[in-house]
Amino acid sequence: MLEQAQRVLKDIFGYDSFRGRQGAIIERVASGGDALVLMPTGGGKSLCFQVPALLRDGLAVVVSPLIALMDDQVATLEELGVAAAALNSTLSAEQQRDLAARIKRGEVKMLYLAPERLVQPRMLSFLQGLNIALFAIDEAHCVSQWGHDFRPEYLQLGQLAEMFPDVPRIALTATADKRTREEIVTRLHLQNAERFLSSFDRPNIFYRIVPKEQPRKQLLAFLAERRSDAGIVYCLSRKKVEEVAAFLSEQGFPALPYHAGLPNDLRAFNQKRFLNEEGLIMVATVAFGMGIDKPNVRFVAHLDLPKSLEAYYQETGRGGRDGLPADAWMAYGLQDVVMLKQMLQNSEGDERHKRLEQHKLDAMLSLCEETRCRRQTLLAYFDEDMPEPCGHCDNCVDGVQTWDATEPARQALSAIFRTGQRYGVGHLVDVLLGKDNEKVRSFGHQHLSVYGVGKALSESEWRSLFRQLVARGLADVDHEGYGGLRLNDSCRPLLKGEVTLELRRDLKPQVTAKTTSKSPASQLVRGEEREQWEALRALRRKLAEEHGVPPYVIFPDSTLLEMLRSQPTTLAEMARVSGVGARKLERYGDAFLEVLGGETEAPKAVADVRHELITLARAGMTPLQIAGQLQCSEKNVYTMLAEAIGKQQLSLEQALDLPEELMGEVQDAFLDGEGELPSVAEVAELFAGRVPEGVLYCVRAALQSEFEM
Ligand code: ADP
Ligand code: ZN
Repeated sequence: MLEQAQRVLKDIFGYDSFRGRQGAIIERVASGGDALVLMPTGGGKSLCFQVPALLRDGLAVVVSPLIALMDDQVATLEELGVAAAALNSTLSAEQQRDLAARIKRGEVKMLYLAPERLVQPRMLSFLQGLNIALFAIDEAHCVSQWGHDFRPEYLQLGQLAEMFPDVPRIALTATADKRTREEIVTRLHLQNAERFLSSFDRPNIFYRIVPKEQPRKQLLAFLAERRSDAGIVYCLSRKKVEEVAAFLSEQGFPALPYHAGLPNDLRAFNQKRFLNEEGLIMVATVAFGMGIDKPNVRFVAHLDLPKSLEAYYQETGRGGRDGLPADAWMAYGLQDVVMLKQMLQNSEGDERHKRLEQHKLDAMLSLCEETRCRRQTLLAYFDEDMPEPCGHCDNCVDGVQTWDATEPARQALSAIFRTGQRYGVGHLVDVLLGKDNEKVRSFGHQHLSVYGVGKALSESEWRSLFRQLVARGLADVDHEGYGGLRLNDSCRPLLKGEVTLELRRDLKPQVTAKTTSKSPASQLVRGEEREQWEALRALRRKLAEEHGVPPYVIFPDSTLLEMLRSQPTTLAEMARVSGVGARKLERYGDAFLEVLGGETEAPKAVADVRHELITLARAGMTPLQIAGQLQCSEKNVYTMLAEAIGKQQLSLEQALDLPEELMGEVQDAFLDGEGELPSVAEVAELFAGRVPEGVLYCVRAALQSEFEM
């Protein structure tokens, strides 16, 4: 059995060996047994049911909660030459009848369905009349009522056990905790399932947390090493998402915003672009993520602190699904601690709930202030023991210096106390440093015994100390929202001299920005390889556009990278590259060999030109200048600008540099009549020779999109 499985793996998927426990899982399910699979994101869950599906007779039924995920998997399978289909609400009645007929004729191997579809009585009796190879229940944690992805329809999936007693069932999830696991077993009637638990470590992710000083500058330094990589930047608020996205675009890093406040179609459009194009940065709130299967997200950056380690692990886990190096980078500072603690105190909900949230936030904070291996800490939180430091996080690589902060900490606590437990860190530091300013004088704080006692430390050292005091719960943040600090019981032993305090020494920000933004992920492709790498990616993009699929469905980055490194020159050599199965070899082998042989000039994909155009327009270039830069006609530029304006990717002001008065005149011309907007041709007569026709297209697009809002 395993031998057969191995053959399918190589022939169809083009991979040489199974990862982790894939082999055992496949053997179990292919031979008719049930399985419960817990694997982290990117662990390779799909193969665990796709390979048995191909080994067994009949139709494999896959339950998946999200249409986007289904479509992605179906496209991937079709590229591999496997007959797969998704049955969902986007199909017309006729398409559905057609699909049912194909299934009856045995022409479909894998059928993807939403749970609510599957449990319809008509659907179930349809399936009962067929030969079913297996049921795979993806994202099985959706059955848990306590989890955040609860889907009531999942509860009904338990009946499959009784209705199809001889059909093996495999449930899969990336959610780690025990309670969810037991719930899946009970509710899906999987008592006989063999359990396959994998480590939740993501070895290819490099974790780094830096003290937040000038976050935008720090982010730019980080990004500078990662040009043309795709990544996600998480921010707490919608406003900040939009500001950061605009800032990055201005700085020449193509970035899109994503948050729950954007119109639905714009959000969907941005998400689609992120999946289909390369090198885009998504700046997002936590609303972005569910169902994002893009494998080559090379970094996940946090500009604000997540509320829990669960959230941090899940968000950072969206990087590096393809197994190649990826970065989890976060800038974290005093303000984060103060803000989150305040939000928590003022949140709705009962005391028990608040305590739980508090506990989660504390765990997150202690990861930030951790002096030992980050990965060990993270895994320990999820009850997994990692005996040795990982060697693949900032603390392991850079080492952490600590210092005895007992005395300064006492001074800091004393400053809080003596100023009346109501001032924020800024003022407290001023007092400790003995600053002579108006606020100090107006409160008479220059007369306090703590005034000026802290001159041995710099301002940033004091701020770092206060941050760590609050993070460790040695000082509290006020409830009123002014960021004032106060003492609590836990600081008593320190004040009384019963304990000492060891704190982390922050690196100087200049040092962090320059030297520590490099990581294995940032050096994935070496300088001399860059040109050929881009050529391979360009070919992939072109093929993806032709086939209407995301680029990674053609080949994942890992496969392109292996081509780059092994430089195959014949089809036989190409077949040995991991990820090149029989079907793809036949379809694409020659084209990629040509690029590797340097025979073809890489085509510039349409999507890329659009992208560049938007960036250039936002940077203030005129249409004529853009035409020069992109080497296309000015008319063409106007057409693309109008399109971007229509999609609200650009404002009229960004796209054109018309004098205000003339712009008003053009707009009036369009708005003069009643009802429908007049066509460009109708208006063109009025402005013949005064403005290029392209301008009229842009103005019309802007007005039209306003009307549609
Ligand atoms: P998950 O669903 O667990 O997040 P996927 O099934 O999407 O993970 O797999 C992640 C990536 O790893 C995919 O690109 C997949 O093709 C690849 N992959 C899975 N198993 C193997 C394997 N045995 N060898 C090489 N690549 C693999
Ligand atoms: Zn480590």
